[in-house]
Amino acid sequence: MRRDVLIVGFGLAGWALTESLKTHGISFVVFDPLKNYSSKSATGIFNPIVLKRFRSVWNADAIMEQSIPYYAQSKYKEAFHPTSIYRVLASVSEQNDWAVASDKPDLSRYLSPKIFHNPNANILTPFGMGVVEHTGWIDTNKLLTIAYRELNHQGCFAEEVFDYNALEVSKEKVKYKNIEANHVIFAEGVGIKKNPWFSNLPIVPNKGEWLIVSCKGLELKKILKSSVFVVPLGEDKYRIGATYSREFKNNLPTEKGKAWLIAQFEKLTPLRYELVAHSAGFRPTVPDRKPVIGSHPEHKNLWCVNGLGSRGVLWGPYLAKSLVEALKNTQMVAPALDLTRFGSP
Ligand SMILES: Cc1cc2nc3c(=O)[nH]c(=O)nc-3n(C[C@H](O)[C@H](O)[C@H](O)COP(=O)(O)OP(=O)(O)OC[C@H]3O[C@@H](n4cnc5c(N)ncnc54)[C@H](O)[C@@H]3O)c2cc1C
Repeated sequence: MRRDVLIVGFGLAGWALTESLKTHGISFVVFDPLKNYSSKSATGIFNPIVLKRFRSVWNADAIMEQSIPYYAQSKYKEAFHPTSIYRVLASVSEQNDWAVASDKPDLSRYLSPKIFHNPNANILTPFGMGVVEHTGWIDTNKLLTIAYRELNHQGCFAEEVFDYNALEVSKEKVKYKNIEANHVIFAEGVGIKKNPWFSNLPIVPNKGEWLIVSCKGLELKKILKSSVFVVPLGEDKYRIGATYSREFKNNLPTEKGKAWLIAQFEKLTPLRYELVAHSAGFRPTVPDRKPVIGSHPEHKNLWCVNGLGSRGVLWGPYLAKSLVEALKNTQMVAPALDLTRFGSP
């Protein structure tokens, strides 16, 4: 069998690569056992503003412009939920900060200058809320399921662990079992630690826990952001998340995480609620908060895309596009994202 590219990993990074390769007519096969991956756990919010500090992320407009069309395709309409985010303001000083931020040229497209005072007595926001536009959330689980079905049907998916020892790498090509290809792209999230070529990249697993509650009467239609995000899922269900922790014993949800999430939710509403689900996942994070992409300095046909732990929804398609351009030799990877910024992997 011959393919142009082998993709290892089918989280948001691997999925976005499949979309990008398809648009360039480049053939591929994806390997993933589909057991446990971070993208399935993601709240899936897309938002180019750092809502703690009221500033935009690196290259925000270009990332939004390139990434959102991937999700807005009609085949993903059940997974795509464009909606505003209501940032709960905690004090008069934050109200002032919001007014200043919404006046800045790079932020005014996203931040509405008017402070919204909520008429719903069941949502406690005494200092009002700032409204962020052009945002929303992706049901990542649904999106990946739709994409998987299509790829599987097209014979482009191998539901298995990729065995690094079975990969033969030469200058011109790679061979994996009975498949010959020109390139391999590794998109394994925190699984990168087992990768013989890229395990030295500084990918740090960060555990995130989240809840789903059922809360009748909350009547929240938009995403709410305080110390946590509250995302309306429909039928009185809300997703609350997430925690951030670099110290953990295992991948199981904890009582401590649950207690913290509940405490944040109870600050927002006096209503009674029922706990429906509590789960956890690992974000692949990078110390400088930017993802890593690029090819291996010695083995040019081995590529890596990782570090999507923060804003993976926005980064995924943007990185896939950059990586495919680099693979075709039409554009270089931006130095700020290039994996060699950390030395040799
Ligand atoms: C609780 C939580 C909330 C989050 N909320 C948001 C949010 O609101 N917005 C946002 O933008 N981002 C959010 N994120 C971050 C983010 O979406 C994910 O971390 C990101 O999507 C990671 O994507 P990935 O494809 O790099 O990794 P993953 O999704 O982990 O995918 C990697 C895949 O590689 C596979 N793999 C690994 N090794 C092998 C191998 N040897 N062979 C075959 N397959 C292999 C794994 O099975 C896995 O499926 C959140 C993350 C968490 C945990």
